[in-house]
Amino acid sequence: MTEPTPATESEAPLDADVIVVGGGPVGTTTALKLAHGGLRVILLEGRDATSLEHRATTFHPPTLEMLDELGLAEPLIEKGIIAPSYQFRDAKLGKIVDLEFEILKEDTRYPFRLQVEQSVMTTMANAALEAHPLAELNTQSKVTGIRRRANHVEVEVASGPRTGTLRASHVIGADGMKSTIRQALDVGFSGHTYPERFLVISTSAPLHELLPDIASVNYVADPVDWHVLMRNPSGWRILFPAPFDEETPEHLLSPENVRRQFARVLPGRTDDEADAAIDWATLYEVHRKVAETLRVGNVYLVGDAAHVNNPMGGMGMNSGVHDGYLLAELLVRGSGGVDVDAELEAWAEKRRAVALDFVGKETEGNWSALRDTDEERRAAQRASWQALGEDDDARRDFLLTSSMLASLKD
Ligand SMILES: Cc1cc2nc3c(=O)[nH]c(=O)nc-3n(C[C@H](O)[C@H](O)[C@H](O)COP(=O)(O)OP(=O)(O)OC[C@H]3O[C@@H](n4cnc5c(N)ncnc54)[C@H](O)[C@@H]3O)c2cc1C
Repeated sequence: MTEPTPATESEAPLDADVIVVGGGPVGTTTALKLAHGGLRVILLEGRDATSLEHRATTFHPPTLEMLDELGLAEPLIEKGIIAPSYQFRDAKLGKIVDLEFEILKEDTRYPFRLQVEQSVMTTMANAALEAHPLAELNTQSKVTGIRRRANHVEVEVASGPRTGTLRASHVIGADGMKSTIRQALDVGFSGHTYPERFLVISTSAPLHELLPDIASVNYVADPVDWHVLMRNPSGWRILFPAPFDEETPEHLLSPENVRRQFARVLPGRTDDEADAAIDWATLYEVHRKVAETLRVGNVYLVGDAAHVNNPMGGMGMNSGVHDGYLLAELLVRGSGGVDVDAELEAWAEKRRAVALDFVGKETEGNWSALRDTDEERRAAQRASWQALGEDDDARRDFLLTSSMLASLKD
């Protein structure tokens, strides 16, 4: 890891208290939290606008609580779909259990999952940043490197209105899985790539009417045909496994294959009917990787720059928002003259542990349980899901974990 370069600094004032690199869901919410706390923040985003890529659609209760403090929860809820429960199902046997979040009503103000595109929230956070007097949002601003000095950090910006060198007390890398900041720090990012891609199909077919006993989020187990059904305001999304070794990306995304996959959920459609119901299909490669540290001096890694996981359980963006929110709280406290160095160190360790031992294990456990091929284990898994429906205490514990409330306990 890089050592700070000795000070050669001029006495010129710093450009900001904090520079946030990356304007995805994590960078924008982190920057907004810093500005709300009274810090001068510059956000540098390489693109010219919010990415509209179809990715996260699930917001968990603790994330909504954090967004509420930033004034974003209510407008987001207005644009989303409230999922009061979610289901585990079997592709052949149907519903196994419907888990209602109502049981968490003493634990959170938001006892539900909110289904809405991450780009909707990011667009709202951008607008709030633009309106905030302490925040400066720069798009088309690609960061190419950083230098740690004794008392500040320098950021090299290769494009946009701030091209050149910017200086701040702290820098936060929220620049996604291929993070330039992580690489500039020479921080390792180890883990594995999953043995299958995920094929996501979006459909305008009203699955909630056609399959009337489903919930707004459904995890469907099967040794071959496992899949996930998720509703969001623009329609339903179906996620299927797409093995690496068997098919090329071109074949997986071909109309024939997309129709064939779609027919697993809605059989009996003609090609024309299926084509009319399918809005788009995308292929994702999925990884489980964690940075070897989330802090090097006054430079921090949050969100996908720090950890990536499979999307089974909808925890990647949510945990990234939690990283940034908790970090911003500490930096705000530190700016008031409190020595928060030990707390920042504890933050880095705790958030890394959450990525490894909570999000990593939960998402991998969900993926393994859905696709298990061993009949005995599958029956035991079904029985344990079913038991959750009958035992309030066990269900509450389970939902505290799957809604990520447990990940924020000390
Ligand atoms: C199919 C799928 C479904 C998912 N579903 C869920 C879900 O339901 N719930 C959930 O919590 N998570 C989900 N995720 C994960 C979630 O999408 C990511 O965890 C989330 O996007 C991470 O946000 P981020 O801000 O850390 O990174 P990103 O969204 O990758 O944003 C990084 C930003 O940094 C910018 N950037 C990169 N390099 C530079 C640079 N050098 N200079 C300036 N800017 C730069 C990029 O342009 C980008 O805007 C899903 C992912 C996939 C693929």
